Amino acid sequence: MSERELLMIPGPIEFDPAVLRVQSKPTLGHTSPEFVEIFGRTLDRLREVFLSPVGQPFVVAGSGTLAMEMAICNLVEPGDKVLVIDHGYFGARMAAIAQRYTADVVTLTAAVGNVVHAEQVEDLLDRERVKVMTITHVDTSTGVRAEVEKLAALARPHGTLTVVDGVCATGGEEFRQDDWQVDICLTASQKAIGVPPGLALLSVSPRALDAWRARRTPVPNFYCDFGQWLPIMQAYQARKPAYFGTPPVNLIYALDVSVEQMLAQGMEARFAWHRTVGHAFQAAARAIGLREVPVWPEIAAGMMSAWYYPEGLKTGFLPEVKKRGVVLAAGLHPKIRDQYFRIGHMGAITRGDVLATISAIEGALGELGYPFEVGAGVAAVAQALAAGAMAPA
Ligand code: PMP
Repeated sequence: MSERELLMIPGPIEFDPAVLRVQSKPTLGHTSPEFVEIFGRTLDRLREVFLSPVGQPFVVAGSGTLAMEMAICNLVEPGDKVLVIDHGYFGARMAAIAQRYTADVVTLTAAVGNVVHAEQVEDLLDRERVKVMTITHVDTSTGVRAEVEKLAALARPHGTLTVVDGVCATGGEEFRQDDWQVDICLTASQKAIGVPPGLALLSVSPRALDAWRARRTPVPNFYCDFGQWLPIMQAYQARKPAYFGTPPVNLIYALDVSVEQMLAQGMEARFAWHRTVGHAFQAAARAIGLREVPVWPEIAAGMMSAWYYPEGLKTGFLPEVKKRGVVLAAGLHPKIRDQYFRIGHMGAITRGDVLATISAIEGALGELGYPFEVGAGVAAVAQALAAGAMAPA
């Protein structure tokens, strides 16, 4: 693989060189005062990333799926009703996890590329006593962004806890945990958080911690139990050493640097930049004549795109794009897997990355004989970027 290939899949992504470099520093002891300071300040700053001063951050070695499992197994007891708002592959995974923990799972599944409508959710919440509702903020299999604020507002009056899977959203899509009254937001390091794979991150509201404390049964998972990790996170935040499982020291260095960069840019600037980049990709799809998987522009994510292949062009497209130095991802949603491809555009993405990606897509389409006006996508992107938010410095 060329070292100059641009990795434009929906995670892992291109990481900032300073984030990668810091990982090669000598590994500190996990209870050393130097590391306690680094981990403690990183946890403190994560509250600003989630926009949740009252939330309790957790950072644990593992992937996003572990974060999903932690959220479910700490809140759910056998027979509890869990409502899964399912917008694709990762909604289905959440339902599978909740089933494994013997919840009574009800799933509202959207048509491919669409969202579950608020009226359906309200109706179900009125009829059934739902303990936990889960929402995938951006389902990476469709590029559909859920209306988290609206759905969470429906859950609150029913006393239902809201869990948001932000793996493909946190750090890029607008998200305000406290204002939107979300109880757990979970994510992973390898997307807009901007750190190589290996960290599961959660921000847990006081209400969710109370629900965990009020359990009648023990958490049926040793590693995932908040009871193991809460004292550790609290100790680091109080700048005291503590141990349950060895933290991934060098990945925490990387998280420290990445979070510092994110906050220096400002969360509002990051939200605006990802919105602009999302609009730029949508403008390119229209200009080239490719159909998006999300059925309306308002529900298309800012951090990734999912586009159907033109008729007859399925095979050979991704390798042609790769020949032009850009790596894109194949489809993932089981119902349409072979009919579309995905582009990740998140984190430290630059204007140059956006233009290079569209240019490589145009080159591949031209090579494969797709009829379109060469340069139309690049022009649309340049225009959308000029009209939108500035890239964070
Ligand atoms: N949820 C979403 C929305 C995701 O995109 C992913 C990963 N692509 C996951 C959960 C699972 O994360 P991981 O692959 O890190 O386990």
